[in-house]
Amino acid sequence: MSNPYLELAAPGVKGLQPYQPGKPISELEREYGVPNIIKLASNENPLGPGRAARAAMEREIAQVARYPDGGGYELKAALAARHSIDAARITLGNGSNDVLVLLAEAFLTPETEAVYSEYAFAVYPIAVQAVGARARVAPAYPRDHAASPLGHDLHAMAQCLNGRTRLVFIANPNNPTGTWLERADLRSFVERVPQHALVVIDEAYFDYVDEPEYPDTTRWLDDFPNLVVTRTFSKAFGLAGVRAGYALSAPGVADLLNRVRQPFNLNSLAQAAAVAALGDNAHLERSRELNRRGLEEIASYCEAFGLGFAPSIGNFVLVDFGRPALPVYEALLREAVIVRPVGNYGLPNHLRISVGLPEENERLTAALRKVL
Ligand SMILES: *Cc1c(COP(=O)(O)O)cnc(C)c1O
Repeated sequence: MSNPYLELAAPGVKGLQPYQPGKPISELEREYGVPNIIKLASNENPLGPGRAARAAMEREIAQVARYPDGGGYELKAALAARHSIDAARITLGNGSNDVLVLLAEAFLTPETEAVYSEYAFAVYPIAVQAVGARARVAPAYPRDHAASPLGHDLHAMAQCLNGRTRLVFIANPNNPTGTWLERADLRSFVERVPQHALVVIDEAYFDYVDEPEYPDTTRWLDDFPNLVVTRTFSKAFGLAGVRAGYALSAPGVADLLNRVRQPFNLNSLAQAAAVAALGDNAHLERSRELNRRGLEEIASYCEAFGLGFAPSIGNFVLVDFGRPALPVYEALLREAVIVRPVGNYGLPNHLRISVGLPEENERLTAALRKVL
């Protein structure tokens, strides 16, 4: 169906395809009428939010007639304490997706460029193209690379830097590949990025990671004024539905992001839940522990079924079926299991599978056994 408004759209928008989210449970219910659906498709925390965050949201409902605190005072104070950082370096977002878009809006023009890797998180191309900037996409490591199959190749990324570069996006670990960059390699890359370009390190899965060589790049902010680190409450904190994320940066960068930010981009339930979640370490520990075991389960059934996969430090695994994976995806839907096809990333033989509750991981194993 042709869209009569296409010619009127901004040039960058014309070439965009909408982001393809994981299939919602309610949609599969409508389409297939299958009961007891499990969704392992969007890297959500299967435990959901902790009790403290739930209680904070319930309390906050009494105030929802009021606008939220547009400055996010309490949440910024809690984050400032957590990261030992000045609150003037924090930009709050409606999910970290929001701060990625704010960065593109504040720093990119049709005359400038952004660099990211092949197979990097799908929001980067959308944010860059929507503002009409040029994307330089660095080739990723090949699929038979030992440490980091399909992962970011920092040398290839460095070759994409030039006088027009304003943003460099790095997902660590990357979604959908699960691959990650070690401290020394990432730091020497950041050192090579010229001051006229911001390096955005997207650490959406930070709180799941348990890897000695994995860097906490928020510690580098004093060394690199052009560094921006993004984090989210959507993954390990179990709050994907309320939308809360943030960027840490130089105060001057935060000032500019704040100029393009919607005044009330973070709703009041999200702010209250995020503050409470930051104070609930027990829930975070439970979530991390569940994830550790889940990753092991996924690895063991991949090995049992002879499926290729890259070791992941997130809460998901990219599984290589060695043949077109869409029929497997569809057969799993008929078993009431939703996983994530990644053909839109140029990976037609893979599916991305999120860690679920132990019984959900078992359901997936049984469904895979049947389908394969
Ligand atoms: C999930 C994810 C995000 C952000 O999600 P929000 O819900 O918008 O905070 C950002 N980057 C990567 C790599 C992700 O996988």
